[in-house]
Amino acid sequence: MVRERRGLPVGEWSRPYVVCPVCGHAFRTTYASTYVTVGREADLCPKIPGRPSDGARLIRSAVTMCPACSFAAGEAFDDLDLTFDQRYGIEERLKEDGLLKVFRKGEPPWLGFHAAEVCGKERSLKSRELGDLCLRASWVCRKEKERPFESTFQLRAMRHFMRSLQEDDLIGRELSVTTYLVGELNRRLGNHREALNWYVNAGRTTEGDPRVAWLDRLIDRQSKLAREQAA
Ligand SMILES: [Zn+2]
Repeated sequence: MVRERRGLPVGEWSRPYVVCPVCGHAFRTTYASTYVTVGREADLCPKIPGRPSDGARLIRSAVTMCPACSFAAGEAFDDLDLTFDQRYGIEERLKEDGLLKVFRKGEPPWLGFHAAEVCGKERSLKSRELGDLCLRASWVCRKEKERPFESTFQLRAMRHFMRSLQEDDLIGRELSVTTYLVGELNRRLGNHREALNWYVNAGRTTEGDPRVAWLDRLIDRQSKLAREQAA
């Protein structure tokens, strides 16, 4: 099924049954297989035609969350092969998590990403992946105008990305983009001088590679912006 809004296909939706690998609950979920974007913001948030809340919904569909136990992941549930210890650990973390305790019932738009981060730590996801979940959560918050939570997730994304630069042996494009994002998130959080240092670091990693020329342009533009903001 293709939904159309003002002539623009906004995504193909399918609603298959999935089974939660932690509690065994079966439920229908929604995947958006493809959607139209018209460029990206400087923190790589996709610009999606239509209302911001529609865009937020499409970004949110990257994560599936079990409505019974709140287990969440960016991967298809069928592909997950959790050990007994992991399932136990995940259940404990989900039960103890402060934000889930407070917000589980209200289901704010960022909840799935938060739950996926909590579960991802138990599944030993790389810091780069945990940072990506938090970055996407911050995009959803911005589109839904949840300012304080946007900053919360930007800060968490930044910390995961910094850890990733120390631990994950990133190379090539991923190293450049991650370093740049630490700069851009610093800038958005008001740390303009820190941001400038990280943009310089990011520029060193691209070494004039033509495949990341777009990133070099972005680094130039955002460095100018941070310099003005720091003055
Ligand atoms: Zn479940």
